[in-house]
Amino acid sequence: MTYTVNCSILLTELPLLERPAAAKAAGFDAVEFWWPFASSVPADAEVTAFERAITDAGFILQLDCPDLALSRHMVFAHLSLEDFRKVITTHVEALNHAVRDIPPERMRMHICWASTQGPHHKDVPLKDIVDIVLKGRPQAVSFPGANPRHGHEWKVWKDVKLPDGKIIIPGVIDSTSNFVEHPELVADRLVQYARVVGPENVIGGVDCGFGTFAGRLQVDSKIVWMKLASLAEGAQLASRELW
Ligand SMILES: [Zn+2]
Repeated sequence: MTYTVNCSILLTELPLLERPAAAKAAGFDAVEFWWPFASSVPADAEVTAFERAITDAGFILQLDCPDLALSRHMVFAHLSLEDFRKVITTHVEALNHAVRDIPPERMRMHICWASTQGPHHKDVPLKDIVDIVLKGRPQAVSFPGANPRHGHEWKVWKDVKLPDGKIIIPGVIDSTSNFVEHPELVADRLVQYARVVGPENVIGGVDCGFGTFAGRLQVDSKIVWMKLASLAEGAQLASRELW
């Protein structure tokens, strides 16, 4: 199991470039940042220094990209689907440019429709954006797959050719609910994905962060640990079934 910390929420008392090493020293395996630059088009030297701070600390960089899904019903609700797809294509191109010197296998990206207990009936379907999401340079893509609005979308991967070397990290536990998913349900979900895209291309994940906003608590901390234990146990069950 690996633990990710969002360095735009924690360790903010430190300068940006010192946070990756501090996160590593604190025992985390992966770091995530919100857009860390003051400008939408940062200078190359600024980007390079940021990349180096991440890779020097030995991290995989997880890029938080809710704009590719969530913004459909927030910022860009007035657009047609076709125009929204053009917008997020530009976002992915900008992201790829920003991280062009980081090896894909040192990066993951996370897309989501917000880690909230809202109705989510306006969420853009994964099938309508997945081809653009997969153009991102990061090797692995994390997305919600456990909550009741997106649990069926494992089937999307029957129609999508996963590019060689890409890894998917579907959520197999829900980050908004205090239910502790049974390990067998976690295993069933992982096996569903694995049977479609190949077991070597799947990592079990959480729908989203449990602490998306500082101070907001949807799931009791003790229950978070129980859910993560269930995720680990379910992944072991799935591995036994698949290999
Ligand atoms: Zn998320």
